[in-house]
Amino acid sequence: MRLSNGEVLLRWPLDQHILTQGWHYNSGRSHNGIDLRTQIGNTAVRPVYAAEDGTVSATQLWDGHTTDERSMQSYGNYVDIRHADYKQQSLVTRYAHLFKFIVAKGEKVKEGQLIGYSGATGNVFGAHLHFEVLLGGKRTNPLTWLDDDFTTASSSVYTYGPGEHAVERPAEDKPAASTLQTICASNLTNAQAMAVFSLAIQLQLVAMRLYWAEFSDAEMAHQNIEVGPITQGDAKAVLDKLSAVGAKGTAQAA
Ligand SMILES: [Zn+2]
Repeated sequence: MRLSNGEVLLRWPLDQHILTQGWHYNSGRSHNGIDLRTQIGNTAVRPVYAAEDGTVSATQLWDGHTTDERSMQSYGNYVDIRHADYKQQSLVTRYAHLFKFIVAKGEKVKEGQLIGYSGATGNVFGAHLHFEVLLGGKRTNPLTWLDDDFTTASSSVYTYGPGEHAVERPAEDKPAASTLQTICASNLTNAQAMAVFSLAIQLQLVAMRLYWAEFSDAEMAHQNIEVGPITQGDAKAVLDKLSAVGAKGTAQAA
């Protein structure tokens, strides 16, 4: 978002803000971006959000095997978003190693909009989100465009040097609310739960591990389910499916 003082404050592209690598690797070698932890429990497939309003300026599908650092394929599946210029220079954010992206080149996106899910494609040792900010085509330390609401995975992770600092948010500028939703339904019969499960497979929500179920009674006849965080379109489809099978779901902002 553009702050009232004209500066840019980007939104964190993930819900959790844990740096595993900074602008320089722990070895001191240049890294040109930051790595954010995506692992929570058993899954590293997490929603990735646009850091600011903009237009998707590039996408790349990973070829599935090239990891050569000199090749763009080392980014794996990635998305670039071009934002409004900053001081007459182009401003682009890049989201790399995605499991999948759900936007297309030329598409307009809003800050906080779901653009894809984190993964481990390209040149990676483990799942994480690699995030870059390019000003005038040159990569800059992303932390100078974000607020300081983050932690580091260890004390050796580089953050920023003297003279660089995270953006200060004027008190009058409020962050944008998430538009994602989580749908919950409890005490479903097995048939009702299976109907939603089939839809979740169709929408690829199961593949992205966004569908959760647990038995709500000892006879294992009823289930509580939770689907999300998902887009409003997918949330509506899940709610419609629930009502079609005579069940009721509730939507919560994710
Ligand atoms: Zn990285």
